[in-house]
Parts: sequence; C-alpha cells; structure tokens
Amino acid sequence: KLHNEIQELKGNIRVYCRIRPFLPGQKERQSTVDYIGENGELIVVNPAKPGKESRRSFKYNKVYGPHATQAEVYGDIQQLVQSVLDGYNVCIFAYGQTGSGKTYTMSGPDKGSQEEWGVNYRALNDLFRISQSRSTYKYEVGVQMVEIYNEQVRDLLANDQTLGILSTASLAVPDANMHEVSEPSDVMRIMEIGFKNRARSTTAMNERSSRSHSVVTIHVHGTDLKNGGSLNAGLHLVDLAGSERIDRAEVVGDRLKEAQHINKSLAALGDVIFSLSQKSPHVPFRNSKLTQLLQASLGGQAKTLMLVQLNPEAASYAESLSTLKFAERVS
Ligand code: ADP
Ligand code: MG
Repeated sequence: KLHNEIQELKGNIRVYCRIRPFLPGQKERQSTVDYIGENGELIVVNPAKPGKESRRSFKYNKVYGPHATQAEVYGDIQQLVQSVLDGYNVCIFAYGQTGSGKTYTMSGPDKGSQEEWGVNYRALNDLFRISQSRSTYKYEVGVQMVEIYNEQVRDLLANDQTLGILSTASLAVPDANMHEVSEPSDVMRIMEIGFKNRARSTTAMNERSSRSHSVVTIHVHGTDLKNGGSLNAGLHLVDLAGSERIDRAEVVGDRLKEAQHINKSLAALGDVIFSLSQKSPHVPFRNSKLTQLLQASLGGQAKTLMLVQLNPEAASYAESLSTLKFAERVS
C-alpha cells in the first residue's frame, strides 16, 4: 500500500538496479557491492579504499544481485509490459557503462537459448501471445527498430536507412519500417534482422553499438469486438549508449563528437525523467533525438522503468557511483 502511494507521488517511474556477475576468466574478483537488501537497498564500497568515505547507500524499487536470472528479472517487469494491452504506453530502458550488462538484460547473449532471452524477446513474445488469447479484443502487433547515433536516427529494419524529422506526438517512428507479428516465429525473425543490422554497423565503425542508442518499439492496436472501440498503445525498449565519462583530453575528432552526443542525450533523458518525477509543468523533451523519440512513452499516463546496470569490478567503482547517482536523481 505504502509502496503504491510512493509510486503515485513519483509519477509512474520505477527504478530497478541489476548487478552483473564477474565474468569467467576474470582474476580480480573484489566486488564494489557490499550489501543488497530485500527492500531495494544497495550499499557499495570502493575495495581499494574500504573505509567509511567510500561506502555509499542507495535505495531503489528493486535490486538484483549477480545470480538473478533473466526469467526472474522479467517476472517483475511482465505486468508493466502487459499493461500495454490495456492501452498504456510503457518505456523500459537500460542505463549503465559499457560492459555493465545492458544488452544482456535487454536482448540476452548472442545466440542465447530461450532461457537466456532478454526483455525484448520476452516482451514481444508475451504481448503477441496474450493478444492472440483474448477473445473480446482483436489485436494487431507491429515492431519498429531504430538506432540513434550522433543525433541521427536510422532504421534497423530497412538496411540502415537514415530517417528524417521525428514527430513527437505519436509512438510510431515516422517512415521507419513496421513489421507485423502474425505468428510466434516472427518474434525471432524480426529481432534477428534488427540485431544483424546493428552488428553490421558495429564492425564498420568499431564497437559503435556501445555508442549508439537502440530503440525497439512494439505497437499494439486493439479493437473491442463488442462495441468497435479501439486502442493504440506501445512499448519502447531502449538499450542506451554506454554512460562512461570520456576523458576529453584523450579523444579527438569523431570520438569526441560521439562522446558529446552521448553525454548530451543521456543528460537530456535524465532531465526529462527528473522533470517528470518533480511533476514540473515544463518537460524538456526537445533537447535530444532520444527524448523526442520516447516522448509518447514518458510522462502523462505512461509508465517508465529504468534498469540501472552495474559492473561490480573494483576498477569500475567511480563509474558505478556516477550511474547510481544518475538513477538516484529520479527515484
Ligand atoms: P553492455 O551492453 O552494457 O555493454 P553487455 O550486456 O554486453 O554490456 O555485457 C558485458 C558482458 O557481460 C557480456 O559478455 C555479457 O554476456 C556478460 N553479462 C552481462 N550481464 C550478465 C548476466 N546477468 N549474467 C551473465 N553474463 C552477463
Ligand atoms: Mg551493449
């Protein structure tokens, strides 16, 4: 009850934090994570300076330790996803430094088994499955997939086409290809096309995927079979660019430009969510392509979930702190 009231006060913004495990073969295994509470409490410490000064405590709606499975995490997100079928717009995004597990959480590992499927596959599968099983509504489910790189939006379901101006009113990305899901195997097929296109641009531009935002949009159009009424709603699933601070002294040219675009768009996202959490009358959606694109699934009646990803390595302590503070500002 109390939790629901807090949720009400904050608007519809939830924050879950997930700590990825140490990877096989990693020698240094001292963790920055000191304590994980059942109630969403998290305490981090700098193993290099384990005194009081480096101990910080944070509180989120949920915290997942390194043993949490994909199914467990999705289990806590499922209701949010399913609310799309009742007409709510939903935005789920993963935030964190490169290597913290954003892509693992959203998509799962490359060529992973069904057990390892991430939120994207599970959400699309769920929405399609449930939409087929309801007898009072007829639903159509469609998918768009785009990437934002250096403030340019590109269609990942159409040979990487660059797209023009974004409208901010609707959930759909104008001019981006929409693929209909009409049978379960379409889920895998569509996701694969998109991720292949993303991977292709990665090789071409050296690990670009960590420096671009990818946005999967699942559209649902429902018709009430009793009275002919209809609803349009959808889900934005966002794998953000890495949030790590780039040392300006060390990068020049394209790399510097990329870093500036990423900083600008992540800051814009933080500002939008902060304004929403403060119930501010002015929400600065127009400051980046990312926030323009996500506008319909942020604020108003929409529901937002921020998945904060952490790399537990000692060397990542400073980045982890900055990630946790970004999340704290909105939670
Ligand atoms: P990011 O997208 O934030 O750069 P990745 O999702 O690529 O990070 O994760 C980095 C590495 O850690 C990958 O090899 C990934 O498979 C692995 N990894 C991340 N999270 C988990 C997890 N929860 N369980 C197992 N391996 C994980
Ligand atoms: Mg990634």
